Amino acid sequence: MYDVTIIGYGPVGAMLAALLGARGRKVLVVERDTQVYPMPRAVHLDHEVFRLISLVNADKAVMDISRPTSAYDFETADGDLLMGFKPSKGLAPTGYPWSNLFHQPTLERAMRADVARYPNVDVRLGVEFRSYDVSQPDHVKVTLSDDPGNPVETRYLVGCDGGRSQVRRQAGIAMDDMDFNEPWVVVDVLLAKGMDSLHDASRQICDPHRPVTSIPIGNGRHRWEFMLLPDEADTDMTTPQMLESLITPQLPDGISMSQIEVERCAVYTFHGVFAERWREGRVLIAGDAAHQMPPFMGQGLCSGVRDAANMAWKLDAVLAGDAAETLLDSIQPEREPQIRFITETAIGMGQVVCTHDIEQAAARDKEMCVGAREDRISDMPGLPPVEAGGDNTPNAGLPLAKDDGLDAAAVYQPILIVRSKDNAPDTNTASRIPGLHVAWLEGEGALEDPAGLLATQLAEADALLARPDKIIFGTGKADDLTAAYARYLETGHGKAA
Ligand SMILES: Cc1cc2nc3c(=O)[nH]c(=O)nc-3n(C[C@H](O)[C@H](O)[C@H](O)COP(=O)(O)OP(=O)(O)OC[C@H]3O[C@@H](n4cnc5c(N)ncnc54)[C@H](O)[C@@H]3O)c2cc1C
Repeated sequence: MYDVTIIGYGPVGAMLAALLGARGRKVLVVERDTQVYPMPRAVHLDHEVFRLISLVNADKAVMDISRPTSAYDFETADGDLLMGFKPSKGLAPTGYPWSNLFHQPTLERAMRADVARYPNVDVRLGVEFRSYDVSQPDHVKVTLSDDPGNPVETRYLVGCDGGRSQVRRQAGIAMDDMDFNEPWVVVDVLLAKGMDSLHDASRQICDPHRPVTSIPIGNGRHRWEFMLLPDEADTDMTTPQMLESLITPQLPDGISMSQIEVERCAVYTFHGVFAERWREGRVLIAGDAAHQMPPFMGQGLCSGVRDAANMAWKLDAVLAGDAAETLLDSIQPEREPQIRFITETAIGMGQVVCTHDIEQAAARDKEMCVGAREDRISDMPGLPPVEAGGDNTPNAGLPLAKDDGLDAAAVYQPILIVRSKDNAPDTNTASRIPGLHVAWLEGEGALEDPAGLLATQLAEADALLARPDKIIFGTGKADDLTAAYARYLETGHGKAA
């Protein structure tokens, strides 16, 4: 009997498998394809998710091929600035650059390499999920294409099977559609040897004749996305002639088609949808199976990785008997408000970009191109904190994702940080939270805190309790925090007082 069967080995399934594998859970991953999905998709990763992928040892491979985003500009057809976003410079408190451009298959391969370290995780590639049966109270039977006569038995089934999730369909979970549907052709190109990027900022060129996205992924890669015109068919968009006619006007002076090579291209409809429920008894969904958004915020994969980080420790705690099953009901209310905010913001950005109407675009340009250019530039939109039990808990990342930092002390376990060893709770109190690490900021064996970020958190509190997914559960007195966390494990509700 497996503890968890995961359908889909995209980034979300791989993240979940690696986190559960590290916890010693017996996991089966089922993937229809035999290779990592080759088509162009995510290029943006934020600092918090960079830190989360470090928990599955995928950060170094991504760091080697990624570059920090310098700016994100929305321009008129004439190059005037409608609005621009500038990420903060340097490293975020998570220890990673705030906003990054990267190559999704590199991330997925690194995650799979981590999963391969665990003999307790079985991966079946080229196998399709067919159906599941929940007639037994204590497990799910899962029928797979390679051996349909012998269903696999598993305590929990998680559909990480993407936008067209079969698991979600069989669970009868409806989708809430945000009524934004825009078809785009997405093209990734390789630049000639020695060329790193074509320009610096990521750009939305809001030309009503053809809205275009242009992203310098770096490391010799460039991304263009072209919105389809109303009379264009998907199949016409990916011919070599069409791609050349789309790309040529976008090339900077002095660069020709002979200096680029189309690596991959695909047509997608950008949309915003939400599954109404993320859990049906022993069956759960995560990632694109639960929510999809237009890519203007670069947050679909990021959101799915956060889902997996939120889900894995809860499944583990429930399977271990350390938490009640209702803890699994906390995943959707904690994750969904943030994802709705991101999706609504992305749709708002999409509404600026996605118009073919010349008069409407002219009115937009007139309204937005007001005042000095620098006054139209703002900070990158931040993400609201995750909701826990209906209340906000700070979602501040903790510092020092370094080899000797906080994450090394508690890779994917809860951690209680107190000011000095004297403030540490007694063993009895600490033992109320399975796997709890206790660390302190002063005295022998203290955690390093060179930027004083943890000290700031503890300026007015004795202790800080962080969950395995690095979300701060609360600050306060160590005893109160551990008691509140124990309650949370029992009920899936509540936060520190
Ligand atoms: C053009 C574009 C740009 C994007 N840009 C960004 C970005 O910059 N930043 C960002 O964070 N996100 C971005 N995204 C979104 C991101 O790519 C997705 O959110 C992410 O890939 C979803 O991961 P997932 O694991 O949930 O699903 P998927 O990656 O879709 O994986 C699902 C897996 O399930 C498998 N599967 C499906 N059905 C079955 C079955 N019945 N049996 C077995 N296996 C099955 C599939 O083969 C697939 O491998 C972008 C998306 C697009 C299209």
